[in-house]
Amino acid sequence: MAQVEKTKTNLLSCRCKFCPSYPFRCLLKAAPKMTKVFLMPDGPGKEAHVESLFCAYEPSNCIKEGNGCKCPGCLVFKKYQLDKMYYCLGGIAFESK
Ligand code: SF4
Ligand code: SF4
Repeated sequence: MAQVEKTKTNLLSCRCKFCPSYPFRCLLKAAPKMTKVFLMPDGPGKEAHVESLFCAYEPSNCIKEGNGCKCPGCLVFKKYQLDKMYYCLGGIAFESK
């Protein structure tokens, strides 16, 4: 399992923004920050937090409850061979069946 890079490509691949655990009010709050990253050229992100790509950044400052997780279906998850879900909440082990 490799360290997930904080790049625009990974941020665009992240499924968190389409996740049922991501409340709409949190998406609205995070929108300006995310938009800023989308407009930047690709490369290592310098932001302390973008409220997305939680497997690379810190857990969310807004999401408090898990209602399903899109991580296992995400390209970043496969690319970096991740082994957890719910990175927004600090991460729990993923067991494929
Ligand atoms: S880490 Fe998982 S549960 Fe959290 S927002 Fe992303 S896809 Fe949803
Ligand atoms: S593995 Fe989860 S937190 Fe990481 S980029 Fe994919 S959806 Fe986002």
